[in-house]
Amino acid sequence: MKKIAIVTGASRGIGAATAIRLAKENYDICVNYLNSEADAMNVIKHIEALGQRGIAIRADVSKEAEVLNLFKLTDDQLGTLSVLVNNAGILLPQSRLLDMDETRINHILRTNVTNYFLCSREAVRRMSTANDGLGGNIINVSSAAARLGAPGEYIDYAASKGAIDTLTIGLAKEVASEGIRVNGVRPGLIYTDIHGSGGDPDRVDRLKHQVPMERGGTPEEVAATIAWLASDESSYTTGSILEVSGGR
Ligand code: NAP
Repeated sequence: MKKIAIVTGASRGIGAATAIRLAKENYDICVNYLNSEADAMNVIKHIEALGQRGIAIRADVSKEAEVLNLFKLTDDQLGTLSVLVNNAGILLPQSRLLDMDETRINHILRTNVTNYFLCSREAVRRMSTANDGLGGNIINVSSAAARLGAPGEYIDYAASKGAIDTLTIGLAKEVASEGIRVNGVRPGLIYTDIHGSGGDPDRVDRLKHQVPMERGGTPEEVAATIAWLASDESSYTTGSILEVSGGR
């Protein structure tokens, strides 16, 4: 049976690289995006050039109704879901806790945490062998910030990723006997546009001296680890969170 994956936030960065990498592994792909329609369509072109089917679906995955629609359109247009990559995430301008207000904190938590819970729920509903599903894989994109805390930059973002690590551990145990594996990756300093959202577009080059491997990582290096977790090569791995951070 054809393998089908949803990658959230797949118009740019790590999500786009993951969508293209999974297409290379013969998946049909749902490319979720929020604003960057042209970029999402460019990812679809790559997927189609690899001989796979791709659909681009606009959905704010922090909103339940839009998540329901995203999964329904994937059911209808691609078929039975095998892999969910929870990747869509944001950070906001660098700030100390003293300057963070309720609106900002809740925006980060809703976007980075509620999103992964809602999408995981819809994936489990479809994949669980307890619901006559065929099993599947969920991969959560966390961050090394969950370990490091991001002091003076965005401890709200770091804490949101800590919550994701706990989701990975708990959900992995909850559904392990239902044919679903749940794993995570913690990228370190990766060259994407996200650092611009924090007001520090050159952050990777500014901080790469702190990385034991003395360089930033690429979205493709993160995508390769995600693809391994999605594959049968990792068949006895669940509840694991892999560091993709050059040793930092
Ligand atoms: P990015 O280049 O800024 O891309 C973010 C993606 O998420 C975009 O496709 C964006 O869509 C999408 N998105 C944001 N909010 C969304 C929402 N509410 N609903 C649907 N899609 C939404 O970021 P990235 O660096 O690739 O980050 C991807 C993941 O890796 C995030 O979870 C991030 O926290 C994590 N991460 C990144 C790094 C790093 O150094 N880059 C390190 C550790 C962890 P639009 O373009 O359409 O708005």
